[in-house]
Amino acid sequence: MTLAEEGKEKAAGEELEIVEDLGKDVVEVLAMDKVADTPAISETIRQAVEKRETRLFHDLVYALCQLDLPEKLAQQRWEEILKHKYLMSEKMGRNVGIHVAALDYFQNITKELKYVTMMDVYRYHQTQQDAVTDWLTGIYLKNHFYNILEKEITRAQRLDDRLSVFFFDIDHFKIYNDTHGHLAGDALLKEFVEVVSASIRHYDIIARYGGEEFVILFPSTNKPTAAKISNQIRQLVEDYPFPGEMVLPAHVLTISGGLAEFPVDGADVQTLLAAADKALYRSKQEGRNRVTVC
Ligand code: GH3
Ligand code: MG
Ligand code: MG
Repeated sequence: MTLAEEGKEKAAGEELEIVEDLGKDVVEVLAMDKVADTPAISETIRQAVEKRETRLFHDLVYALCQLDLPEKLAQQRWEEILKHKYLMSEKMGRNVGIHVAALDYFQNITKELKYVTMMDVYRYHQTQQDAVTDWLTGIYLKNHFYNILEKEITRAQRLDDRLSVFFFDIDHFKIYNDTHGHLAGDALLKEFVEVVSASIRHYDIIARYGGEEFVILFPSTNKPTAAKISNQIRQLVEDYPFPGEMVLPAHVLTISGGLAEFPVDGADVQTLLAAADKALYRSKQEGRNRVTVC
């Protein structure tokens, strides 16, 4: 291990320790909370520890009430909410949950929340999930993918890490639709996504970019590794027996794809996706059923 690598590992270790300490504090506080229905909070803490996230308080406040505060202010607010929670609990003679305390704090003290509605947290999450996922295939929509990619790019920048994006499009899908009809086309898209989704790692993010265009984000993955995975996906689609695929020019369903890596091929969301899209276009021009690496 080089000195630089050693330094990096040490820094990462320290960062993790800090987050774990924070996480533990927060967990202890929440353990006293009689309101156990806080999946968003527990998930935030779990992700913070797993991803060595340093925006823990921002994420916690956001998970609580969707207020987007800078990390420092969020930490201050979080500590004030906890004090407020204890105060309320003492006055009421029973434990007051973190949500109730935060609501009272933001609405009546800081007035950062003006109009609030009440909704069961599971129903809220379902509504939130519906807004960012495609009804047909169940995967993320373009807008949400942009947000995730933006966050992953910021993270990669901070940790001096890389990531890859794989843009792909079903070949000659119009012929499939024209021959079998739109409903059969829909069913095929659904099955296609099931097959591809099942083949990727749990931390890779797949999204429906448009009609029969998809994109996968491979976090912490360089181009050679991502190219291997992308080609495995391309091969899997070619080999998988999709219903009615014999009407296609190659008699099998295939995809064409383009692969780009952050930061070498693009240092922001738009440039990176444009580079992958350009590579995809080349795959189409050069005969389809292939992956072009930027
Ligand atoms: P290429 O290999 O150049 O990508 O050819 P293509 O036929 O796949 O591309 P083109 O852009 O000409 O047509 C895309 C087709 O995808 C047109 C449309 O009928 C179909 N499509 C897009 N979205 C949906 C969808 O949600 N459901 C169904 N059934 N078809 C869709
Ligand atoms: Mg197509
Ligand atoms: Mg297309």
